[in-house]
Amino acid sequence: MNVFYSQKELKKALVPFQKSIGFVPTMGALHEGHLALVKQSLIENERTVVSIFVNPTQFNNASDLEKYPRTLESDVMKLMECSKEIIVYAPSVLDIYEENVTSESFNFDGIEHQMEGKFRPGHFDGVGTIVKKLFEIVAPKNAYFGEKDFQQLQIVRKLVKNYNLPVNIIGCPIYREENGLAMSSRNERLTIEARAKASVIYKTLLEVQEIFGIKSVKEISDYVNEVFEKEGLFELEYFTIAEENTLETLENIDNQCKYRAFIAVFVNNIRLIDNISLN
Ligand code: AMP
Repeated sequence: MNVFYSQKELKKALVPFQKSIGFVPTMGALHEGHLALVKQSLIENERTVVSIFVNPTQFNNASDLEKYPRTLESDVMKLMECSKEIIVYAPSVLDIYEENVTSESFNFDGIEHQMEGKFRPGHFDGVGTIVKKLFEIVAPKNAYFGEKDFQQLQIVRKLVKNYNLPVNIIGCPIYREENGLAMSSRNERLTIEARAKASVIYKTLLEVQEIFGIKSVKEISDYVNEVFEKEGLFELEYFTIAEENTLETLENIDNQCKYRAFIAVFVNNIRLIDNISLN
């Protein structure tokens, strides 16, 4: 399997596969959720490129960036088990940003100010910056993103539309652990107790799905707040029901629109997010 650390070498290797590349951008510490995206890309494209890069400009919290798991060797092994033909791009910060480790400023028509944007200032400028750079380097035909980070998926769709980028964005379903916890590289840092009890997040989202359209948005939000107050271990950062395209908080249900519930919680200083489709 080919692992490239420099964009120059990667670009050279990709010349024969132009217009037939599937691309899966990741920050590594790969789990089954990532591998599902990779497997879909392997089926749908002649060559698959997986990038592994912990992008500093999308972290608004220095300790989160520092503690983010970096496991390149085992990531490469996992990818090799999927297919020896995968091309890995694992650049240094210097290879991506040279001496200028800063974000470009983006206008994503307001969706960047909702939810994650509110609680992680600058996060989506960092995401937009790295995704745009990676698309320029890899020049994929198709790029795969998880619905686990649904707001990010919509941001990337906006990026592609606003800049007229020649790439199809493919959203993939959320992969979960057996107890329902959405798979995440950050789960590795949870204690055994927190990991077991984290089933409350998905369980609550399923309950929200059940009562959506029956109870008012306020009643649903109060219920979710109550669950996490009683539970004690998890601190609710936000719970929002929003329209899928604008990501604006739901006020009155419009039957033509699709809605999702979004949640972010903290446990042992680790931040977990999840979401569920409601209609
Ligand atoms: P990350 O390494 O966390 O930046 O994630 C890389 C890609 O994998 C993103 O498009 C994520 O949305 C996606 N991803 C992460 N976790 C999951 C999951 N549990 N299910 C599906 N996709 C995921």
